[in-house]
Amino acid sequence: MPTLENSITADVCVIGAGFAGLSAAKGLIDRSIESVVVIEAQEVGHGCSGRNGGFVFSGFNLDEETLIKKVGFSHAQTLYRHSETAVKMVKDNIRDFNIDCDINNSGILLANWFDRPEILDDYKSLMTEAFGVNLGEYDARECRELLKSAHYYGALHERGAFHFHPVKYIRGLANALIAKGAQIYEHSPAVRLEPISDGKHIIHTPKGNVTAKTVILAGSAYMKGLSPLYDRTQTPVATYVMATEPLGDRLKTAINTGAAVYDTRFDFDYYRPLADTRILWGGRISATAMNPPDIKDKLYSDLMRVYPQLEGIKIDYSWHGIMSYARHKMPVIGNSVIGRPADGVWFTHGFGGHGVALTHLFGDMIAGAVADGDETYRDFTDHYGLKNSYGTLGKLAAEATYRYYILRDKIRG
Ligand SMILES: Cc1cc2nc3c(=O)[nH]c(=O)nc-3n(C[C@H](O)[C@H](O)[C@H](O)COP(=O)(O)OP(=O)(O)OC[C@H]3O[C@@H](n4cnc5c(N)ncnc54)[C@H](O)[C@@H]3O)c2cc1C
Repeated sequence: MPTLENSITADVCVIGAGFAGLSAAKGLIDRSIESVVVIEAQEVGHGCSGRNGGFVFSGFNLDEETLIKKVGFSHAQTLYRHSETAVKMVKDNIRDFNIDCDINNSGILLANWFDRPEILDDYKSLMTEAFGVNLGEYDARECRELLKSAHYYGALHERGAFHFHPVKYIRGLANALIAKGAQIYEHSPAVRLEPISDGKHIIHTPKGNVTAKTVILAGSAYMKGLSPLYDRTQTPVATYVMATEPLGDRLKTAINTGAAVYDTRFDFDYYRPLADTRILWGGRISATAMNPPDIKDKLYSDLMRVYPQLEGIKIDYSWHGIMSYARHKMPVIGNSVIGRPADGVWFTHGFGGHGVALTHLFGDMIAGAVADGDETYRDFTDHYGLKNSYGTLGKLAAEATYRYYILRDKIRG
């Protein structure tokens, strides 16, 4: 894709080609906004959207119990339904654009790390009663047929969830949008956002610029310096992933299911079998150590703890990504981020580790608001607005909280 090297105009300029930015662009084009430009600092999918574990599931970072307490039963149902719509949006894109992204419809397992059946029982009841979600259930013995590890005591199965190859997906999505008329520029970081007359803005990049009436900030934790409010209302949190060598028949000596897996600890492992018999294995979070050098060894030791029968396997790749968290753990959306009312600058961030599906919804809600004045996004803003995350102090507080929960899980386990 080209680099922006001249001055252009557009109806809307989207900054950031992750899932949120591209979904906003798609939503605008679907609503007949013809001139949509996306500028990306690096390459499409450079941020979390190209680095994630590939779990596509409903719900939020914020747990359902807390959500219900905060917004009430009925509104929690509305929000949860939105998250289910988000999952469907991803599935529809894969189908409509015929994107080859190794989709695996085996669902997602939540495995119980603790020998306490009530953890899964309570969660299953809550999901049925509050949201009508009927999770499948495996007892400890059945679970160990699927996940051949002594660490698990049963599992719940989210059958409507799926997993996929996020980089293949996002590249497919970007190409489909270009075919529909979007202009996407790579290696074109927005370095300055300048309000001009007629309610328009100029978005400057090192070699060119875009003049647009509407701007959408979708850079999440990778965006810095365009809007102080955008920056100070998110805490960047790192998480880490590795991919093993292809394991052939050995894979099934450990993971005897096509489902993706995570567990009931605060700092859970998340992993899934890939089409070529590798395991993609992720875990650990930190608000202070973004890219530690020993991450491969640490993830390998996490994998060995769960599946010691795989000792000696090679790790072919490892990487990290930086997620964006708001203090309330819900995504945020709105406009007026640079301080003028209705100034035509929309924003979204705060998807944390639960953003693959939700970014699609939030991008689309911005598009609906911009194109049609649709106020669906207020379902979220009425309860979860922008909150100061207090910079370095906020990061240290987040790290301390993580340490506390990790220690608590060690004591419980
Ligand atoms: C390792 C890892 C595993 C994860 N696993 C899962 C999972 O399995 N399931 C799940 O639901 N979620 C998961 N997540 C979270 C999910 O990936 C994110 O919430 C989601 O991708 C966020 O998308 P986004 O579009 O908001 O931001 P990003 O994908 O981070 O995209 C932001 C883009 O903006 C660009 N940008 C920033 N600043 C500028 C600028 N000034 N000019 C131009 N471009 C700019 C960046 O280069 C980047 O490409 C995971 C995250 C990580 C890091």
